[in-house]
Amino acid sequence: MPPLAYVLVGSLALAALLTIRWVPRRSDSLGRRRPFPRISVGLCVAIAIGCAVPLWTHARLEARLEGAAGKIVGEPVRVHCQTSGQAFLDVGAELGWVRWGPDGVPEHSTLIKRGPCADLSAWLRSSKRDPSSDEVVAVHVLTHEAMHMSGIKNEAHAECAAMQRDAAMAVALGASPAQGAELARRYWLETYPQMPSEYVRGCGAGSEYDEGLPNPPWADETTG
Ligand SMILES: [Zn+2]
Repeated sequence: MPPLAYVLVGSLALAALLTIRWVPRRSDSLGRRRPFPRISVGLCVAIAIGCAVPLWTHARLEARLEGAAGKIVGEPVRVHCQTSGQAFLDVGAELGWVRWGPDGVPEHSTLIKRGPCADLSAWLRSSKRDPSSDEVVAVHVLTHEAMHMSGIKNEAHAECAAMQRDAAMAVALGASPAQGAELARRYWLETYPQMPSEYVRGCGAGSEYDEGLPNPPWADETTG
């Protein structure tokens, strides 16, 4: 449970406790009314609301990403967005990961780092007409991790399979087909050539990992 959820439950419990304590003591021995502890209870409720909003936003984002990633993988998957607390303790450079189970099979669950999750959230709220480079990368990170969840362990293979599905992922997240195709093409042209060497192999028209899917990001290149 994230730390904010503990604060939420704690402040609601305290508000309930203050109310329950007040009920039998509503009036003193002379029958005079004791006021309801509205400032303390109000403060507890305000803290609870302050925690509930980011928790709800976070859960909603994860649900949207899970829905789209599940469509691409073809099976239900879990997508966790890293929280601020987890990001604070995290020193890794990767943007997301999928764990392999003890049997060597990738799990149907991924963790996406705080940065790309924030970029995904910004992109989802935008018109999707002119995404920033970070937003393009963030959509691709989700597709890349989805490819690991589908069972691909090799990085170059996962990267290439993802680039052939970035457009479909963008559409599953609410982009138009044209916006999805443009996003996939931008990743292929702008980011992929700069990836570390273990990611850059066997991709492109007619190459090892070309699955011959319709509308790959390199679609127009053969016609010049
Ligand atoms: Zn990977």
